[in-house]
Amino acid sequence: VPAYLDHAATTPMRPEAVEAMAPFLRDRFGNPSGSHRMARDARKAVDEARDVVADALGCRPGEVVFTSGGTEADNTAVFGVPRRRPGVVVCSAIEHHAVHTPVEQLGGRFLPVDGRGVVEVDAVADVVTEDTTLVSVMLANNEVGTVQPLAEVAEAARERAPGVTVHTDAVQAAPWLDVAQLATPADLVSISAHKLGGPKGVGVLVVREGTEVAPLLVGGGQERERRSGTHNVAGIVGLAEALRLTVEERKATVERVEAWRNRLADGLCRIDGVTETGVIGSDRAHKVAGSCHLLVAGVEGESLLFLLEQEEIYASAASSCASGALEPSHVLTAMGVPADAASLRLSLGATTTESDVDAVLAALPPIVEKLQGAA
Ligand code: PLP
Repeated sequence: VPAYLDHAATTPMRPEAVEAMAPFLRDRFGNPSGSHRMARDARKAVDEARDVVADALGCRPGEVVFTSGGTEADNTAVFGVPRRRPGVVVCSAIEHHAVHTPVEQLGGRFLPVDGRGVVEVDAVADVVTEDTTLVSVMLANNEVGTVQPLAEVAEAARERAPGVTVHTDAVQAAPWLDVAQLATPADLVSISAHKLGGPKGVGVLVVREGTEVAPLLVGGGQERERRSGTHNVAGIVGLAEALRLTVEERKATVERVEAWRNRLADGLCRIDGVTETGVIGSDRAHKVAGSCHLLVAGVEGESLLFLLEQEEIYASAASSCASGALEPSHVLTAMGVPADAASLRLSLGATTTESDVDAVLAALPPIVEKLQGAA
């Protein structure tokens, strides 16, 4: 059986989410913005999903804005805040492109990270000024899996720029961390369904009451004018069910997966030339449970992934960008990681089994040896 170790790219859908969605892909197809019985039936489903999502994310139902995914939620935050309150936008140097690129386009500024890939809180006082309108720092990184000091960053930013809006991309954190609690300091929070057993193409931007953010999409005025476009009813229902179960099972999932991740990382680090990122020594306290990110010296990343695929092991290099090209990652560059080693991201998930881990532990040593010998 194939070993899928790319959960940071996307996860298989939870069967319960598929089940929950099915009626809305068949006969319960009404448009929730309408007024007749079928419309009301769809609206009720969206409202119920909204309650579930609000409960899971620690916000009010009225603060949940359904989007087409993490990218739209992130873009809405970064482009939408300065349109209401002009100023400089700031994000960490290791944000996902969905935040990083908008900040770049707006001529914003970047917060540096240390060698583990953790934002340097001390730098906030230099980078954030009275002119800063938005600070965006992810809760957990998608490449190296490091958890960020959001509360400290938010506090330091608000000291420098009272009234600054704080956004956190919690897309990668949601499968592993208590977002309801950890994202409390943020005014805006992004979530994506397909990273936690839900469908692709649906996500959430939490917009806390009183937060000013211009909509990215305008038109029919859905989501109380914050996001126009006919609701993806089935997607929203699937997101709610996947998120509900993720939160319910989180403790057990983290415990199980973390132990396997540690066994995997410890085992692979015994291979000559293999080191782990995002850690100091073997302290993985700053990483989400599913993340195993390695540097492999003396091999080519593409060959490494190719040979792993021959063994039916699916992993990725840095992150899954649309081009699939193995370009040097801005995250590793910001961490000061030299570009000469190949990076290998093995990301575990709720459906990972111990035999997936065993498969990698058996397959990788000879592959690395072979490639290093060929170099
Ligand atoms: N933010 C982070 C941290 C991610 O890992 C991803 C996933 O690729 C996104 C945003 C984008 O989310 P989506 O794929 O739903 O657009």
